[in-house]
Amino acid sequence: MPSFRGILLNKSEAGFSATLTDIDHAQSPADSDVEIAVEYSTVNYKDALALTDKGPVVRRWPMVPGIDGAGTVIASNHPQWKAGDKVIHNGWGVGETHWGCLAERAKLKGDWLVPLPPALSTKDAMAIGTAGYTAMLCLMALERQGVTKERGEVLVTGASGGVGSIAITLLAARGYQVVASTGKLSEEGYLKSLGATQVIDRATLSAAGKPLQKERWAAVLDSVGSHTLANVCAQTQYGGVVAACGLAQGMDLPASVAPFILRGVSLVGVDSVMAPQALRREAWQRLAAELDRAKLASISREVPLADAIGIAKEIMAGQLRGRVVVRPGD
Ligand code: NDP
Repeated sequence: MPSFRGILLNKSEAGFSATLTDIDHAQSPADSDVEIAVEYSTVNYKDALALTDKGPVVRRWPMVPGIDGAGTVIASNHPQWKAGDKVIHNGWGVGETHWGCLAERAKLKGDWLVPLPPALSTKDAMAIGTAGYTAMLCLMALERQGVTKERGEVLVTGASGGVGSIAITLLAARGYQVVASTGKLSEEGYLKSLGATQVIDRATLSAAGKPLQKERWAAVLDSVGSHTLANVCAQTQYGGVVAACGLAQGMDLPASVAPFILRGVSLVGVDSVMAPQALRREAWQRLAAELDRAKLASISREVPLADAIGIAKEIMAGQLRGRVVVRPGD
């Protein structure tokens, strides 16, 4: 294949462009040892930032975006992978400094790849994507800190988004009592169908609040940051745990130390991009075993590659619900 279809981002004096085009194979970066036929990719929040040039995500131009891909190895110089292997890729700076997966082909490093668990299809894997894999990393972080379902309610913020939707599904399947915080109260039915027992308005969390508030949450899975993260820490029970993974409201954390030093609350950071292989494989194995496929289908929808740029605009406008799977091929 001398060329392949893909999205190419470019920035020059003429400005920023995102186009679906034929990409010359010879232009692909050389620092890779595995080539995959991408069967599915997805548009994550970070991809949306890159596709709309809204954040400093892309650090080399031109760039093929797409931090996630799932597909079949077609060529490999890496000892672990051979042609025909089914693999998943998440993160590692792909779509930022290294060409990514919103294309029919991707050249990646073998050390970055995770084997596709046999119970998942490549489409399932991208319906989950970095958002769902991060939701599982957060759940694992909470449980490592001793959170159990007997301790009480678990709050999920950014509930109708990708991380939030999958987090609710995973937590509910493990028997947790899940409260969903959303700006889309019209999605109450959807959030309850995933397993939320109660839905609250995110406006109750998004403004500056007191350093200590009424104790409610045994644990919180936060993808929002800013005042929301400060408020949820202030509302967490004595000895409770907050897992922070996102910044949908903002990167700031206008909080006080009061919840940590007076209530022994723990704030745990979760990163998916550079997470070590052992953690990734554990997360993907657990996703394959624990995630309800019917609910995953209700969270996600499929679009062709040509629609990815429009989807990114919807994500940036906060209009999207759940996850979008992108099919690069015809
Ligand atoms: P989505 O765009 O799918 O969802 C984000 C959700 O956040 C929205 O659906 C909305 O939910 C809520 N939201 C949007 N804007 C605001 C706002 N101004 N104030 C409060 N809530 C808001 O993104 P993802 O779920 O994929 O990612 C969520 C966050 O997690 C992002 O910041 C992303 O960068 C981060 N992330 C971090 C990772 C890591 O490795 N640490 C990995 C993956 C994601 P609702 O309408 O229901 O309130």
